[in-house]
Amino acid sequence: MNMVKSRLMSRSTLSSTIIGVIPQESKDDQEDDMSSLHSIGTAAVVVQVTGTNWPRPSYTLLVTGLCRFKMETLLQESPYLVASVTQLDKLSEDFDEFTKKHGGDLDNLADNFREQAGKLVDMLDISIPVVAKLKKMLENLPSQHLPDICAAIVKASYAEKIQVLDAVDLNERFKKALPLLMRQIEGLTLLQKARKDRVGVEIVARKKGDPFGRPGNMKRALNKISTDFDDDDDADSDEINDLEQKIKSAHMPEHALKAVMKEIKRLKKMPQQMPEHAMIRNYLELMSELPWSKSSKDILDIEQARRDLDVDHYGLEKLKKRVLEYFAIRQLKNSLKGPILCFVGPPGVGKTSIGRSIAQTLGREFHRISLGGVCDQSDIRGHRRTYIGSMPGRIIHGIRLVGTNNPVFLLDEVDKLGKSLHGDPAAALLEVLDPEQNHTFTDHYLNVPFDLSQVLFIATANNMATIPAALLDRMELIQIPGYTQEEKCNIATRHLISKQFKEHGLTAEQLQIPVDSTKMIISKYTREAGVRNLERKIGAVCRAVAVRVAEGMSKSKQEKRETPKSEEKKQVINNSLPENLSQDATTMAHPPEMPICIDEAAIKDILGPPQFESEVSQRLVQPGVAVGLAWTVMGGEIMFVEATRMDGEGKLILTGQLGDVMKESANLAMNWVRANAKKLTFGNGKSLLAGKDIHIHFPAGAVGKDGPSAGVTIATVLVSLFSGQLVRSDTAMTGEITLRGLVLPVGGIKEKVLGAHRAGIRRVILPKRNMKDLYEIPNNVKGEMSFIFASQLEDVLNAAFDNGFPALPMEDVTPSKL
Ligand code: ADP
Repeated sequence: MNMVKSRLMSRSTLSSTIIGVIPQESKDDQEDDMSSLHSIGTAAVVVQVTGTNWPRPSYTLLVTGLCRFKMETLLQESPYLVASVTQLDKLSEDFDEFTKKHGGDLDNLADNFREQAGKLVDMLDISIPVVAKLKKMLENLPSQHLPDICAAIVKASYAEKIQVLDAVDLNERFKKALPLLMRQIEGLTLLQKARKDRVGVEIVARKKGDPFGRPGNMKRALNKISTDFDDDDDADSDEINDLEQKIKSAHMPEHALKAVMKEIKRLKKMPQQMPEHAMIRNYLELMSELPWSKSSKDILDIEQARRDLDVDHYGLEKLKKRVLEYFAIRQLKNSLKGPILCFVGPPGVGKTSIGRSIAQTLGREFHRISLGGVCDQSDIRGHRRTYIGSMPGRIIHGIRLVGTNNPVFLLDEVDKLGKSLHGDPAAALLEVLDPEQNHTFTDHYLNVPFDLSQVLFIATANNMATIPAALLDRMELIQIPGYTQEEKCNIATRHLISKQFKEHGLTAEQLQIPVDSTKMIISKYTREAGVRNLERKIGAVCRAVAVRVAEGMSKSKQEKRETPKSEEKKQVINNSLPENLSQDATTMAHPPEMPICIDEAAIKDILGPPQFESEVSQRLVQPGVAVGLAWTVMGGEIMFVEATRMDGEGKLILTGQLGDVMKESANLAMNWVRANAKKLTFGNGKSLLAGKDIHIHFPAGAVGKDGPSAGVTIATVLVSLFSGQLVRSDTAMTGEITLRGLVLPVGGIKEKVLGAHRAGIRRVILPKRNMKDLYEIPNNVKGEMSFIFASQLEDVLNAAFDNGFPALPMEDVTPSKL
């Protein structure tokens, strides 16, 4: 039944269940208004359920009507309606029985009706498959079904349709439905006539030199026909008209407008109940909301930009310099063509927040697109509009959200893009980022090009090695290695503390975190390259104090109310904060003295015992342990390498989630030690492993480790194990080795040195050819540390053991100090 606003009364689940379809009294009634339910409805069986939950739940049920019923009493309202009903008719009865039962001229009425229905179908275009099907169906339909089916097909008002539903008597039903059928036939006749007229007018107009003709008559005729029907689609057509207006004011380019107008035409012809109707509407809404020609005006004042960037972020000089260059070129050339900036660094070093601050500086909108785990190219390019639930890709979605066509888009975590059967999202991103192509970026959902050339794309990544090669080629990498303790302290005092104060509603009059306390939080409660954890810890301190302040405020209010004139006793909170913090609010006599100053004891009480103590000196108390340096996506880190010897068959056992390269390094180191056993005074190489197994372990959890840079550390560990000498506890090392004992350069020096510094190590052995990499390390770190450059393993051993390695002649050793 073609009841637009209807209530479903379901007995159990929908599929193959008999449900009752009951309309509201009037189509304007609220759907949840039970009092406006009509008393007569149709029992129907559900044949098919289609629909989507996105962007809003919209379902279509295909049902077959069975019979009419009258609702007696409503038994239940939620989660669905249940009512007791009485069956009113039975459609499966034989027509002859009907004639007998109802009498009158039912036969004549039915014949006339069938004739008119045939006439109506003949007027429709039989080449359309649905019409052909309809014709066949009408021919074979038992006569008693005719009025119901035809009332559902023809255009009629809500009230007229209800009248047909209410006509339980078949005679009456034919009488009610016939005028509707006749009216439709008349309407179509008029339409066909108007069409013929238009062709005539066009031909005449063209003859007169007017190439388009004036289809005014036609429009008027069509309007007349459509206004004749006070039908359900009025509200819908109003909405379509609004949409059309919106589209016209969206100032979209011609090709897009053409595509949209085509869809509007389709929409106008389509019944609202079709699932495709909702799809087209969503599409048109998106098209009308896209900022085809809406952009924000760039504020390009280099001096101001420099100031803004400095205000928002401490340090990051290299990055700021490059961003300012970018702005300067933009100002001079008014073009954004050029490589895409990609900030590479560990988490929490400010990659995202600097992107946001660039947008602010330029006066542009900002949108972040997280690419981590994206492995379907439709995520970037959208889904084609051929199936339910299709939607645009993240780029177009972002453009719609920001509402301008020149925002700053931060493509976060490009190194974590995946690949799958559904295509390579990196390839789709290439089109987005390529300035030669992105002015005609075609999202599959839009199916028309959208100009992305004014969008400023910035990418971020943790690991350069996993950025897809094609994308890497389009990008200019700016590395952010991580912060030193001093930089972190500055960032905390200048930015993070005030930010957290604001977030927790605290002021400097209420809380003070002195620099020494900040330093303690940095060194004892965080060990990270960035400052995200630090910010979290400061947040935790603020939360704890906020509770104290709030408690104090409510307590003092209460006291004032009780003893308004009694003098408040002051309580020093400072060093005794720990006990106070755990004190119950009701037992606390007085508000704390402001400002609350966070000292060491307070930190321990709030954050617990220190999480990171320097473990280097504790770990290196026996031979066979050394500190290596590793590069990870989280920044540089120290790594303890341990070795032990036990009875066995001369095997080398390696554990600690190692990659192939690392295993090779271990074998290299072992063989070098064996080859040089005599020189190292270990006897001969054979005796080292005679009846013994060597086990080398790389702790630090189940994290996969690979790379050649642990070569020198493994060799040192083995020498320490065999010689029984301790490795210096203040020294860390990195470097690849060859079979002949040469030390080769490795990558990630900057991160590794900063990692060692964070862990409290002040002496680092590096490959000689890495000396050039030291210039990137901040001077304050360089000043606090000493570096030993080694070109062969003997240099490493001499620097790693106290007083050099005694077995080696001193003249071979050339440790140099920076
Ligand atoms: P990333 O994107 O690199 O993982 P975020 O940009 O999310 O890191 O930064 C984490 C937090 O650290 C943010 O609150 C940011 O403002 C802050 N932050 C990082 N670096 C700095 C800096 N140099 N100056 C000020 N705040 C910083």
